[in-house]
Amino acid sequence: MTMNGTASLEQEREATLAEIQRLQGFVVVALDEASDEADPDVAEREKTLALIQNLERKIEEIDYALATARKGNYGICEECGQPIDPERLALLPETTLCVKCKQVREKRRAW
Ligand SMILES: [Zn+2]
Repeated sequence: MTMNGTASLEQEREATLAEIQRLQGFVVVALDEASDEADPDVAEREKTLALIQNLERKIEEIDYALATARKGNYGICEECGQPIDPERLALLPETTLCVKCKQVREKRRAW
């Protein structure tokens, strides 16, 4: 189980990194165009930069989950210590919280 978990984490990390690089290439091209053209598509570039930031945050989450995995705690909720639903882990390999604790944490943040 631990092996499967980290394998999908590594895959997720690679795919996310590739996506960041693709988007960064996009932004660089946009910047080059901006220097030549009077009307650069600023909104579009900012959207791309926001996307990159989201993906970088995701990388951080994946790294955190990988560190957890190295300690042998992968798939265990860091809040309540219960095993995380394998279906949830399959969908969201970077998660370190079970559904219940995640909901509690989100409510706390919302307030
Ligand atoms: Zn929990």
